[in-house]
Amino acid sequence: MRFDIDSAKFVEHDLDSEKLAVIGSDRAVSWSELEAESEELAVTLRSLDLPLGHPVLVRGHKEVGMVSAMIACMICGHPYVPLDVVVPSDRVRRILAITGSRLIIDHTEDAFPDVAFVLKRNGLLRSAATSSAEPAPDRPEDPIRYIIFTSGSTGEPKGVRITRESARAFLDWMVNDFGFGAADVYINQAPFSFDLSVYELFTSLHIGGTLLLNDGETAKDSHRFLDRIKQYNGSVWVSTPTFAYLYLTEPGFTGEAVPSIRHFLFCGESLPKATAQRLLDRFPNARVLNTYGPTEATVATTLIDVTRDVLMEYPDMPVGRVKRDAMIRCVTPDGRPAVKEAPGEIEIIGPHVSIGYLNNDALNTEKFFALDGQRGFRTGDYGWFEDGILFFNGRRDEQVKLNGFRIELGDIGAQMLAVPGVADAIAVPLKSGETVKRIVGFIRAAPGSDGSLLRETVASHLRRTLPSYMVPADLMMVEAFPVNTSHKTDRKALIELYTKRPKSGT
Ligand code: AMP
Repeated sequence: MRFDIDSAKFVEHDLDSEKLAVIGSDRAVSWSELEAESEELAVTLRSLDLPLGHPVLVRGHKEVGMVSAMIACMICGHPYVPLDVVVPSDRVRRILAITGSRLIIDHTEDAFPDVAFVLKRNGLLRSAATSSAEPAPDRPEDPIRYIIFTSGSTGEPKGVRITRESARAFLDWMVNDFGFGAADVYINQAPFSFDLSVYELFTSLHIGGTLLLNDGETAKDSHRFLDRIKQYNGSVWVSTPTFAYLYLTEPGFTGEAVPSIRHFLFCGESLPKATAQRLLDRFPNARVLNTYGPTEATVATTLIDVTRDVLMEYPDMPVGRVKRDAMIRCVTPDGRPAVKEAPGEIEIIGPHVSIGYLNNDALNTEKFFALDGQRGFRTGDYGWFEDGILFFNGRRDEQVKLNGFRIELGDIGAQMLAVPGVADAIAVPLKSGETVKRIVGFIRAAPGSDGSLLRETVASHLRRTLPSYMVPADLMMVEAFPVNTSHKTDRKALIELYTKRPKSGT
């Protein structure tokens, strides 16, 4: 059996309905059990009479119930908004305000008194709250499948809307070009609020494979994680390069010890050549796939099988060839073709490009465009083509990646500035080469504020309002922000202040 994402129906019932469909952190279900559970949830959803297209928040951490909830939403024509527990409840409330959602399917103990319907493990809670409903979409032929929220530079998260058409374009590519099948076991560890997880979630459901979910504790414990992969014959490893790099320090992470792994699928940040090389050495029977793309263009747009030949041929790590139904152009200021020495901004055009951010017209006008009847997105990434293969050359703005997680430094800054007593604040990445290793928040207290008290207040405010991966590793109080010759805050000087600080003086 499989769940066809395009038609939002369980199909091919006669095939392997007793095969495991989802192995969650809490329990495992077969395909027939997943179908029964999702259909039952769909009945509950319909009974709430939410308008078609009304977004539903789905919150938890790797429970089977998260998957059946996302499926039920698709069946009923509701976009789901996946929220892992890395997103704290204050941010969930801001997302609720943006979506106007009246229903949250929640696997945590948190209370949401302002939401009309809260569906918990033990049943449905109704409240008197009347949050405003989103108007029903006027495109029933292309319903929104999901809305993933990413960090926004102004401190307001951005909801990327992915429709049925975009999901179809993504899955056509997955089915035809990646070489995965129904016999594969797709290993998940990324939170569902990170679009990397759409790789294994959608592919496994759509192809009819088995989805192996791993909670944060398991992913951190290499013995537990590798044992689980062995136990369930995990075959498709999906992660950021950083996550695999951490596993390379593990002697038991080899093709001999974990022979079921046949594919390493990467996206979300640069794949270092050394990481790819070491994986090929350790897993001689596995493929290493590098893919590139932002959430706004449904997971990824380019793909390359990183073979030994590819590693030898190109001094830089390629991110791949553009999928057939899409186009990428690298736009330079002078209109000349982008080259390594003068890369251009990467624009993605194709059916997998989002219809835009939810309720954010200003940003949609800036970032999205139409070209010959197709949707386009200005990524803010830079790159160039060589032999028809795209190469990535970083960004020029305040968006960074930390362990593959997308972070707008301005989002952190806005949260620090929201704390009374903070006169000025800025988040600065500490890098090793091009890789961000940690983020440090610098704070200047307003006159009369107690610095050390303020530091604690800001720290707890950030833990409450930001996803855990966005909370700066450290906060440092400064008397004044150094400025450079162009009268801008001198980040280099701040980093120097931080690295040379006396141990107890922060
Ligand atoms: P996200 O929306 O979280 O998937 O982040 C998308 C961003 O991650 C892109 O705009 C790039 O800046 C970066 N990115 C994604 N894939 C790659 C890759 N293969 N190599 C380098 N950077 C990447």
